[in-house]
Amino acid sequence: MQRLSDRVAVITGAASGIGLATARRFRDEGAKVVLVDIDETAGTEAAKEVDGLFIAADVTSEADVARVFQTTAETFGRVDIAFNNAGISPPDDDSILTTGLDAWRKVQEVNLTSVYLCCKAVIPYMRKQGKGSIINTASFVAKMGAATSQISYTASKGGVLAMSRELGVQFAREGIRVNALCPGPVNTPLLRELFASDPERAARRLVHIPMGRFAEAEEIAAAVAFLASDDAAFVTAAEFLVDGGISGA
Ligand code: NAD
Repeated sequence: MQRLSDRVAVITGAASGIGLATARRFRDEGAKVVLVDIDETAGTEAAKEVDGLFIAADVTSEADVARVFQTTAETFGRVDIAFNNAGISPPDDDSILTTGLDAWRKVQEVNLTSVYLCCKAVIPYMRKQGKGSIINTASFVAKMGAATSQISYTASKGGVLAMSRELGVQFAREGIRVNALCPGPVNTPLLRELFASDPERAARRLVHIPMGRFAEAEEIAAAVAFLASDDAAFVTAAEFLVDGGISGA
């Protein structure tokens, strides 16, 4: 079944991990996919694979983000779906006692300010259409104290969650749905990099996942496709957990 036939979808952070898996899933569901990433080489390769349009952009730049949605609208005539997903994880100890202000600001810029910029840029197009679906990538850590010591990351994702809820309520009567996706740990380069320096950290994390494993990116992409589609027509301002049971334990 193709639930996204002829829908136009923008995905940020589309060159890797969850974004790339979602680009493939959206393509399989019939969407026209615009892949956005700061990594030009991987982004170009990914776009070739899914027969999509690649736009190189830094999601922390207001000018870049405006160009992304303008180019999409000029090319395809509309923007139906925005999956605001680009993000980074601080590589080293991100505890409140050790994180410097520059590192903190960098994480807020890429994970939170980017979502603000993307929502601000895409909503006018969706308002004109009277319809749209925005999915912002938060994390399960925004929902619970996960004792990860990742203070800047957790705070940025909490902001994404609150902003998505607020926008979902604000634009509900205009046909624009806004949801926060809250994945548990997912087997992507971001997670592998995080655990590379401390393999025991992975084992400690697994103990807290009732399913006893990390998610695969395709399992998260399946949830994004649902939220993007009309199957989720009555879902907005939601905190959509896909976490193998972590938050229920
Ligand atoms: P990933 O590292 O595999 O992919 C992230 C992509 O974002 C990369 O292609 C990177 O080049 C791009 N990117 C980074 N900074 C950018 C910028 N300034 N402008 C444009 N593109 C930029 O990571 P992933 O695991 O697929 O993570 C995707 C999202 O999911 C992130 O927001 C992450 O915080 C979130 N998340 C991940 C996990 C996990 O365990 N992997 C869990 C919960 C939430």
